[in-house]
Amino acid sequence: MIALAGNPNSGKTSIFNAMTGARQHVANYPGITVEIKEGHTQVDGARMGIVDLPGTYSLTAYSPDEVAARDYLIDRHPDAVIHVVDALNMERNLYLTAQILELGIPVIIALNMVDLAEARGLFVDTEKLSSLLGVPVVETVGNRSKGTEMLIETAYQIATEKRNWDPIRITYGEACDSALVKLEKAVSDSELFSASIPSRWLSLKLLEQDAHTLARIREHGGENTESVLDLAEELADSVLREMDDETEGVIADHRYGFAAGIVREVMELPKAGRTYTSDRIDRILTHRFLGMLIMAGILFGLFQFTFSVSETPISWVEGFFEWLHDLAWNGLPEGFLRSITVQGVIDGVGGVVGFVPLIMFMFFFIALLEDSGYMARIAFLMDRIFRKFGLHGNSIVPLIVSGGIMGGCAVPGIMATRTLRNPRERFATILTAPFMNCGAKLPVYAVLIAAFFPSNAGLMLFLLTVISWTFALLSAKLLRSTVLRGESTPFVMELPPYRMPSWRSVLIHTWERTWLYLKKAGTVILLASVVVWVLMTFPTLPEHEAAELSPSELPAASLSNSFAGRIGRTLEEVTMPLMGFDWRTDVALIAGFAAKEIVISTLSTAYSLGEIDDENPQPLVSRLAHQPGWNPVIAFALLMFTMLYVPCIATIAVIRRETRSWGWAGFAVVYTTGFAAIVATAVYQLGSLL
Ligand code: GDP
Ligand code: MG
Repeated sequence: MIALAGNPNSGKTSIFNAMTGARQHVANYPGITVEIKEGHTQVDGARMGIVDLPGTYSLTAYSPDEVAARDYLIDRHPDAVIHVVDALNMERNLYLTAQILELGIPVIIALNMVDLAEARGLFVDTEKLSSLLGVPVVETVGNRSKGTEMLIETAYQIATEKRNWDPIRITYGEACDSALVKLEKAVSDSELFSASIPSRWLSLKLLEQDAHTLARIREHGGENTESVLDLAEELADSVLREMDDETEGVIADHRYGFAAGIVREVMELPKAGRTYTSDRIDRILTHRFLGMLIMAGILFGLFQFTFSVSETPISWVEGFFEWLHDLAWNGLPEGFLRSITVQGVIDGVGGVVGFVPLIMFMFFFIALLEDSGYMARIAFLMDRIFRKFGLHGNSIVPLIVSGGIMGGCAVPGIMATRTLRNPRERFATILTAPFMNCGAKLPVYAVLIAAFFPSNAGLMLFLLTVISWTFALLSAKLLRSTVLRGESTPFVMELPPYRMPSWRSVLIHTWERTWLYLKKAGTVILLASVVVWVLMTFPTLPEHEAAELSPSELPAASLSNSFAGRIGRTLEEVTMPLMGFDWRTDVALIAGFAAKEIVISTLSTAYSLGEIDDENPQPLVSRLAHQPGWNPVIAFALLMFTMLYVPCIATIAVIRRETRSWGWAGFAVVYTTGFAAIVATAVYQLGSLL
């Protein structure tokens, strides 16, 4: 049986009549008072039944007509659904389309009223519509039987081919999505009324607290019913509290966003007649040129602001760790305990926690951008460019957070890839994000630039930003044409209406993300700092050798003798001829595995500088500038290497968590370091030639 479904007045009955001719009758369905017509047609000698369902705007059913249409789709499993879409009212019609596609049943779209649409100068790109939605689209003029032959053929084909119809997954915003994940699990673990309904769809209805569905579930009973219903109510409540809006409203907003996004993609906006504020704003904000400019302005402004407001709290946190450093240094007896506590634990963790205020503000603004609806527009604007490199419009946020504008962090950046649904695009983004210039690379850049390119500092920073984007995009392209080769997801832009962000939701998201970052600092980074400390401390110099050295020579000599020093000197054999890096640089780079900013403090130890002052890196700067064997070419190679090589341990840990695989985490280490080595070698070799 083929079912015709769609909005009232979309032309279902006209199409039904055109398909069946006189072969029709009023069907009798027990318990349904609504009149439903059935008929049939002949295809390839087979008889194909067709039913004309009552019109409905939504599968969240209110009227008896809507309930009848919905129950038919859910309970009677038609072999295919011909979803009639009125081309004149695309957005409202696609709102229903979204819900039908969420059912994961075979669907053909009949794009009806194309005659009227054309007369009004509205043209729909049906091919694009078809590829975005993943279903066949046939243009029809119902009252003149145009396109119905094609419709019959396509329906017959779809009904007989028995392919798998995966329900589409629309994002409903962070609050609903995480509630849905929990509900889906509970639903699939229980025996609610129908196994053939996708658990996500049922979860959505539960989260919406759809009265009809709740009643049916209760009636049906089954294992765990009550606990699932309780969970649903609880989650719906928590979304309500977080979003200041009923789940139903939040979900509807996102469905309209989905619909609006598709319309924006497949249809040229009519010149006049649409008066929604969101649409009018979008005409400017998603404009190819103007939109880009405004976006650059907004992002730049936000980041400038983030940096300036976080300066003071950062100095408080740093002050606290300095105080702790001094306290432990003076309070503990000299020896390994003091050294590991102060240099391993306090300095290591302090370096990372110091970024927390910055990261917190950044998360705050990102949550604002998301909740206001602007983030979706940014993704839309960037998609055109990213698509060429195998990424997705939604890759923009992770890349920016990771340091796309100097000074982010790849840990939250990689966490932000969760909005990407295609795993290949997501992994490509995850593996590419560490190339961005995170805050920890900045001190390294600052020192090397001050030492070797002092007259062009601003230009160099700008250049480094451009270079990191270039490599990130090239790397994405490389990955997407090799290990992560595969189709791109068509970009279904979801353009939710602009709305005032709810403070509650913004604050909750900010806090959740910051807390995750802090947990990282407390565990992985702590461990890594200790390991690096051990590598750089043991084995110690024999006492008689140490006794002969002056206090200023001692640190470098100890470092040279340590495991790290030995590894560095072995590596020098390779890195010296290729990239011009001596063993001290190698040791610093190894230490940078814990966190990139450690590269600088290690370099200064290796060059016997004692403690260096972060605010005023002059000693190391002048030392490097006059060090024999160093020159701008090596410095630039080191800049490139630092930018690209193995992301810090916290990033590796988050890559492993987000990909759920040690394999990908390992790949990230090898891939980024390989990439860095090739680029640094090229820089050094070419630079030395010139
Ligand atoms: P239903 O409510 O979905 O069953 O829609 P109907 O089939 O009753 O159609 C509603 C009105 O639209 C009728 O007056 C039809 O003649 C008209 N109609 C249906 N399809 C088309 C079409 O493709 N083009 C035009 N111009 N009118 C149509
Ligand atoms: Mg009708």
